[in-house]
Formats: sequence, C-alpha cells, structure tokens
Amino acid sequence: MAFPPVREELRGIEPYGAPQLDVPVQLNTNENPYGPSEACTDDIAASVKAAATSLNRYPDREHVELRAALADYLARDTPHAITPDQVWAANGSNEVMLQLLQAFGGPGRTAVSFAPTYSMYPEYARDTHTRWVAGRRADDFGLDLEAARELVEAEQPHVVFLPSPNNPTGTALAPEAIGALCELVGERGIVVVDEAYGEFRRAGTASALELLPQHRNLVVTRTMSKAFAAAGLRLGYLAADPAIADAIRVVRLPYHLSSITQAVALAALRHAPELLAAVDSLRTERDATVTWLRDLGLDVADSDANFVLFGTFDDRRAAWEGLLALGVLIRETGPEGWLRVSIGTADEMAAFRQALTTVIKDATQDSSKDSSKEQS
Ligand SMILES: *Cc1c(COP(=O)(O)O)cnc(C)c1O
Repeated sequence: MAFPPVREELRGIEPYGAPQLDVPVQLNTNENPYGPSEACTDDIAASVKAAATSLNRYPDREHVELRAALADYLARDTPHAITPDQVWAANGSNEVMLQLLQAFGGPGRTAVSFAPTYSMYPEYARDTHTRWVAGRRADDFGLDLEAARELVEAEQPHVVFLPSPNNPTGTALAPEAIGALCELVGERGIVVVDEAYGEFRRAGTASALELLPQHRNLVVTRTMSKAFAAAGLRLGYLAADPAIADAIRVVRLPYHLSSITQAVALAALRHAPELLAAVDSLRTERDATVTWLRDLGLDVADSDANFVLFGTFDDRRAAWEGLLALGVLIRETGPEGWLRVSIGTADEMAAFRQALTTVIKDATQDSSKDSSKEQS
C-alpha cells in the first residue's frame, strides 16, 4: 500500500494551478492588473480594524449584511429585484461551485459541462463523487443547443455548468440559449451560469441574472476575483431562488466566511464605481487586442471577458515558450493550437504585442529556412 493512504482516484494527481513564474509581464491568470485605489485600501484597513475588535466572536454565519450589499450590487445588471435571501457567498466562487455539488451532486448524480470549459469543474465533481460528463460546444464556442438537448436527455444531469463568458474562450451565451437549457434540464437539476467575467461583457450582452424570475433552477455565480481586483480576498457568490441558497446552508462549513472576509468584501463593494472604471479601460484594451491579433491574420475568439483566446499555432508550446523567453507569460490552454492572454495594463499589452511579433517573425523565418533546406 503506497503512502500516504489517499483515495485511490487521487493517487499521483498533481494539484491544479497555473505556473506562478516570476517574469516581468504576467498575463496568465486573468487577474485584474489594477489594484484597488488608495481610498479603497484605506476603507479596507479601517473596516478590518473595526472587525478585529470582535474577533473573539464567531462571524455572522448567514453573512446577512454582505448578502444585502451583494444583492444591491447585482441589481445593476437586471431589471428585476434581487433580494438578500437569493444571494449566497463563500470563499471564492470555486467554493460556491463545490458547495453546489455537495448539495446538488454526489454519489449517483451527474454533472455536465460543454468543452472547452473551466478546468476546475471536473475536479469538484471528483471530490464530491459526482459523475462527470463533458459534452462539446459548437465550433464557434457557442452552445450547440441540439447537441445539448441530446446530452441532457441521455445523461439526465443534476448540475449543468455553463461558464458565460466562458473560460478559456471568452464566449458569452445568449439568454435565449441559457433559458432553453434551463427548460431542457427541468426541475430535476440546476443550471449554474458561471459569470466570473460578467462585468467584462460587451455592451449589449445581457447577464443571465435577467432570467432568474423565469427559471427556478437557474443559478448565476459571480466573483470579486476578476472585475473587483480582489483575487486575494477569496469572495465569490451566487444569485438564485431562495430555496437553492437555503439548501447550501446544510453543507457549508460552520462560519465559513470569516469576519475579516466579510468586512473587506463590504468595503470593496462600497468602492464599486471606481473599481468598475478600471474594468472599462480593460474592456477597451481587450477589444483593441482582438483587433490587433486579427490584423496579424490569427484566428481570435470573440471575447466578453478580460482575456483573449487566439491561434492557431502548429506548435503552441513553442510560441508560449518564445513569449516566456521574452518575459511575457501567457497561458497554454484551450483547444489544441490556441493560446490565451489575459488583458493587462497598456504597457503590458504593448510588451505582449512586441514579443508576439518577434515570436511569429522568428517562426516564419525558421519555417522558410526549413523549406529552403528541403528544396536544396
Ligand atoms: C477565475 C474564475 C472563477 C473565479 O474563481 P474564484 O474562486 O472566485 O477566484 C470562477 N469561474 C471561472 C470560469 C473562472 O475563470
């Protein structure tokens, strides 16, 4: 028996994580390059100090004040009211996903997503003993509703994960497609629309929050890790029918959200307008990056997120390594041949453009050298 005596299916598995390499330009984990403002960090510091005076007490298990603030914040993205009892928060939306699978997945139950999709979902399915089935998206990375219908009929899923905007492709799904999927799944299961990148969507792209009154089985998740420039905070949340939020209370760890986390999240939310101003400049930079990559003649997926998927490279590993050698770290992810770059500051994107131009030029020279060799 090998030591340590872990579960059979976990033996030899590497923990998830993007390489954290110390290079000058880091565009690989979709972080917001703009940290919180000084006004915001001052408010956070004062809020932490105030919370510290009662650290001898357990935090509010139901995080009532935070849920009310999050409900207020979400109201900007839907014409319908969102009430605090529709909201639930945890340590990052990844913990929200895990809690959803603990409550709605489990042995004998099935979770489904459509690839390419977020690489963490199958891990949480494994950890909760939920059967995992991956269907496929359409060639344009949108949802192929006919294929989805067949999959749902065949697999009868209890949980469907639908990142929109999708990671790693950046694709946002139309509300009609999401609504149709909610109908297909029916009240036997829940449809989790992961809007981790929701704030980055282009003008005219609706949030799935708008659909909440029509579909009781719809769950929309958000995070403060991306738009709110607070990946280090670990705060994610969902909006759904109050009965769904209520069901999670059964599986959450006692006092899962520390009083410090709650205080910091409330402070950050008070500064939403200034944090979202930075989101606007990232969206502009994102659109410019898409245009620039297309002008280079590359294939580029439409993006409603703070990253862009582009390709295709015969040897994407070589392209990724070439950029790294020039001090630019991006992500080797997505379908074979594609690469993903997170949107950074204007300076970081200039460095990325310069490095990619060099890498592509070198690759073309290499291949013309190769072909001249073949000819001779
Ligand atoms: C980054 C990301 C999240 C956010 O995770 P947190 O745990 O909130 O930091 C969720 N879903 C997707 C698809 C992501 O890319």
